[in-house]
Amino acid sequence: MLSVQHALERLRKLILTRKPLVVLITAGIITAILLNIPLSFLEAPLYDFRVRISHSQAALPDSRIELIVMNDETAKTLDQVLPLPLSYHTQLLEALGRYQPRGIGYLVDMSQVHQVDPDQFQGPWATRFVEAAKQLRERGTAFEIGTRFDVTGEIAPPYPLSLLPHAIAIIHKDGNVFASDKITRRALVTFNGAPSFHLDFARALGFSAPDATPNGTFTVPDLDASYFFFRYHGDTASKKSYRQRTFGEVIRGEVPADELRGKIVLISTVSRQNSNDFAFTPYSSAPYANPKLVIHANILDSIIHNEGLARVSVWSTAAITYALTALVLWGVLALTPLYSVFATLFLSVTLLLVGQALFDWRGLWLREGKPLLGIFIGYYLTVPYRLITEYSRRWEYQRKNEVLTQVEELKTNFLNLVTHDLKTPVARIQGLAEVLMRKANDRLIDRDRETIQSIVSATDELNHFISSILELSKVESQNLQLSIESKDVNQLIEKCALGFKAPARAKQIKLQLQLEPLFPIRIDANLISKVINNLIDNSIKYSRPGSEITVSAKEENEAWVRISVADQGIGLTPEEQENLFTRFYRAKNTRTAETSGTGLGLYLTRYFIKAHGGRVEVQSEKGVGSRFSIILPVAGPPETEALRPGLKNRIGNRIGSAVRHFAQE
Ligand code: ADP
Repeated sequence: MLSVQHALERLRKLILTRKPLVVLITAGIITAILLNIPLSFLEAPLYDFRVRISHSQAALPDSRIELIVMNDETAKTLDQVLPLPLSYHTQLLEALGRYQPRGIGYLVDMSQVHQVDPDQFQGPWATRFVEAAKQLRERGTAFEIGTRFDVTGEIAPPYPLSLLPHAIAIIHKDGNVFASDKITRRALVTFNGAPSFHLDFARALGFSAPDATPNGTFTVPDLDASYFFFRYHGDTASKKSYRQRTFGEVIRGEVPADELRGKIVLISTVSRQNSNDFAFTPYSSAPYANPKLVIHANILDSIIHNEGLARVSVWSTAAITYALTALVLWGVLALTPLYSVFATLFLSVTLLLVGQALFDWRGLWLREGKPLLGIFIGYYLTVPYRLITEYSRRWEYQRKNEVLTQVEELKTNFLNLVTHDLKTPVARIQGLAEVLMRKANDRLIDRDRETIQSIVSATDELNHFISSILELSKVESQNLQLSIESKDVNQLIEKCALGFKAPARAKQIKLQLQLEPLFPIRIDANLISKVINNLIDNSIKYSRPGSEITVSAKEENEAWVRISVADQGIGLTPEEQENLFTRFYRAKNTRTAETSGTGLGLYLTRYFIKAHGGRVEVQSEKGVGSRFSIILPVAGPPETEALRPGLKNRIGNRIGSAVRHFAQE
């Protein structure tokens, strides 16, 4: 256990002294690990999310592209099954000839049509198909057939259709390269050096230069193929989607002549032979009869507008991951826990927003999986470290506190012991000195009399000190009990003032009373007398000879009694006033240095007054004088107990902190 603690402590010291180095190295390790983990499971949903919320104009479908589908309904009305025989395809092509479209992409797998009845490719329908296509091309309509491929390469359309332009038109579903979710995100650009159907068709349409490839094209050398990430268009129902028509509408001449003029028409059949034909597109919610055809349209659309997505390089991704991880590590170590949570969230959100902006407007795909994981690993790695350091710091404080409490107890016990033991011998010395003074007064020479007088007054001071200390330990052990009775405060004040007549006269100080008639109030007379005595004693001690002291008492708002002792003494600075009620505090001035005192009087005064539910106020000006006031509730303390628990605790705490403060000094 100890060695673990030791190791943690060393780690903490290392982090504290070499923070930048630790941050940079840790960020480097996290980045290196992340770069070597395939995170497509994270990148794919992030990519899809991005596509779905994309607001760029590029996400709208090109209205020049139109779709013609041959679906079950078409087959039913013709009393046929899919794929339709060649004769229907020829009729469709001939019908389209009337519309003068800009291009026709024929995405029907002719080898399947051939499989059903190979003979039809020997007959006139095949010749007429080729002828119709040729005529279309002569009149400026681009024509291309999309084909499948197998291990041997492209499966060309059966002769004589193979004479017409054709290229591979496959829908690539993510299987093992990017994500394994069978979603189509990327499209073939070239295969074995030859352009795919989409690229070749775009070139024939005049949208792509003969040797240009879409933005973001990347090669996969193992496959001798290149791909690009295309965009989905018209991805929500609210947006416009590609217009689609059925085979029947065109054949029956229901489409007005100008509606297909100049359009790029993609034609496909819905074949149930292969379930893969129903490619799943996660982005399109429009009710398309043939989702696969929609994917073809999207790929073509992306090539036409050159809006393929370029992936940010691996090195850039590494640099971004490294920078963000280091930033989070630094932030969590340097900031408060709350701020570090906000900083982490802020970084993550900023990364997502910047990524989205680059995606929408620059066609750049920032792979956020790694930086995001870097941010979160960085955060969760440093948080436990912080927690451990917090705990160890708290543990340290607790231990110190325990030691201080023990010291405090020892000190109180010691003071108690000493003062108790001192009390009797001091009383004896005082008693004996007084007896000696009385009995031998006549026989004493003046010097001896003065000596004995000094012994008496020194023991007086010592007594005062001892009783203050005893009072203090009573207060600190919270054993103070109030004995509340109804008492006439004025009487109490008069009695106290009487006791100070001699000292006041000795200093030629005029002690006067201004007492309003008052009803008796509920107080502990003994404690309040001590308080008044202390205030008058202080005002005499800290006043110049010949000055005046006024003790007053009056009622305030019928609920309170205010007793004030005002002098024309040395006064107190604002700083001194702040510390007055701290234990053992004595202001640093020549008068205080000359007079004896414990620095406990005002501390006890405030404690006793608080125990009564009252408060103490000081108004003082250096060199002018001071007014100490105690304000007591007429009804007495709120509870008859010595101290309410709350007050006990508050005072207990204050004593605790005073003791700590004291011990630290
Ligand atoms: P003590 O008088 O025994 O030193 P107190 O707690 O009663 O302790 O007072 C604390 C300090 O406050 C004194 O040492 C003195 O510096 C200052 N003080 C108290 N009363 C007065 C007063 N009336 N005028 C000026 N200073 C005062």
